[in-house]
Amino acid sequence: MIDLHTHSTYSDGTDSPRELINCALSAGITTLALTDHDSIAGWEEAKQALRGDLSLVLGAEISCLTEEGISVHILGLLFDGENKQMLQMLEETRDSRIPRMKKMIQLLNAEGIEITMEEVLSVVSDGATVGRPHLADALVARGYIGSRNEAFDGLLNNDSKFYVSHLAPTPEVAIAQIKSAGGVSVIAHPFASFRGATLDEVAIESLVKAGLNGIEVNHRDQSESERIVLLQLATSMNLVVTGSSDYHGAGKLNSLGENSTNPGQWELLEAMADQRRVVRA
Ligand code: AMP
Ligand code: ZN
Ligand code: FE
Ligand code: FE
Repeated sequence: MIDLHTHSTYSDGTDSPRELINCALSAGITTLALTDHDSIAGWEEAKQALRGDLSLVLGAEISCLTEEGISVHILGLLFDGENKQMLQMLEETRDSRIPRMKKMIQLLNAEGIEITMEEVLSVVSDGATVGRPHLADALVARGYIGSRNEAFDGLLNNDSKFYVSHLAPTPEVAIAQIKSAGGVSVIAHPFASFRGATLDEVAIESLVKAGLNGIEVNHRDQSESERIVLLQLATSMNLVVTGSSDYHGAGKLNSLGENSTNPGQWELLEAMADQRRVVRA
């Protein structure tokens, strides 16, 4: 079973890379991609923890913003982790997440919701990308809300008045950067509409022109009918079709392998990288 999109404690997942590897082995995963938000900080631990027959695909989920301000997530897989421009792009996004978090906190404070940056940072693992799920955890600890899910349904939703965006590359820039670092790119959950505005077919075509390799069709945030449309798009644009869990440990209901990628599709995708970079124990 091939699962190409998961998160660890180096972003907003709750399993360390080592725990993630162990869970993947127990869940019968054969190929696992580690794709923390805007970070490769978990790669080393994942490599060291790797054992058995599991194949490890190192990657990152890159937070992007289109010129119209639509949030798009691009999975970069199998890129060179020493590519300087790539590392710089990820670092710029991570850095801007700190002032962004402070602004969100100020907006909440102005409405009488008492929460501090210190409280948020206290729930962020060492070296992790700071995101809204951490703010949600801090609000849960304070008793304002019951869960991360509740936060994303209301207070911290993309449409909420407390929402602030952070610096992010356009998806075209991210895709070109992934390619120049030797990797492959897949647009994550393109039709996850309840999170906010999504791209239309013309916008997806522009990403294909920029070098997009694949499209995540099978993802829990996309309905059966949305998946059918995406499959048609994939066929007409000659894109690899992927499926994944977007596992976040206890941070989301998603379980490892709940959606997966067909081995033939993975073979095609892997062959599009400039080198064989899958890690084996
Ligand atoms: P941010 O990148 O800081 O804007 O936060 C967005 C991230 O929050 C997404 O990439 C998801 O991983 C996570 N997220 C979105 N919805 C939920 C939810 N309902 N429960 C938990 N985490 C969520
Ligand atoms: Zn996440
Ligand atoms: Fe995502
Ligand atoms: Fe994700």
